[in-house]
Amino acid sequence: MRKFDGDTLLVATHNAGKLEEIADLLRPFGVRVIGATEKGLTEPEETETTFVGNARIKAHAAAKATGLPALSDDSGIEIDALGNQPGVYTADWAETETGRDFVMAMTRAHDALLETGVTTPWKARFCCTLVLAWPDGHDEVYPGEVAGQIVWPMRGGEGHGYDPIFMPDGHDITFGEMDRWEKNRISHRADAFAKLVAGSFG
Ligand code: IMP
Repeated sequence: MRKFDGDTLLVATHNAGKLEEIADLLRPFGVRVIGATEKGLTEPEETETTFVGNARIKAHAAAKATGLPALSDDSGIEIDALGNQPGVYTADWAETETGRDFVMAMTRAHDALLETGVTTPWKARFCCTLVLAWPDGHDEVYPGEVAGQIVWPMRGGEGHGYDPIFMPDGHDITFGEMDRWEKNRISHRADAFAKLVAGSFG
């Protein structure tokens, strides 16, 4: 497993919150983090059908463009009874002409589940795949997940995206009802980042 041994890491995101979160996480390792906006990068098209495929596109494009090691992530929710949909299309299901509408996306997922006739529990998982790519073309892949089930109706005003319909295993509340710190401790993203730190920064 290749270790990160530079001092600057490019994070292939235009999301300032995400950038700050990653900078905090990697500060103990003496890593300076810069974002895609700072380097004037454009977002490549995510044309793959897997999380790792799309994360690889973003990390390699950023590493090649900047000459720096680059980290990207791709995430979403897989629902067993829907053949793992929406998966890489998780954000697309929320797309409208006036922006993203996650109530619409969650309703679509629930309607699709009813359509299948499959009975509860509706097993599902949130996935987050991190890819660390180097300008020489090498990469390391760190997949994270949290297993749970889809519940209906939506519950809770915390979090974002599909959180109000996802109840993680071992809990009787949804991510939408869960304290942010608790969610961040057990989430798919926490799982992937723990693996990244152990594999490439430890
Ligand atoms: P990405 O930005 O292409 O990785 O898209 C991720 C999609 O999955 C977005 O639509 C998010 O709302 C959804 N998603 C990812 N992680 C979470 C989460 O922790 N809670 C709720 N939705 C999530």
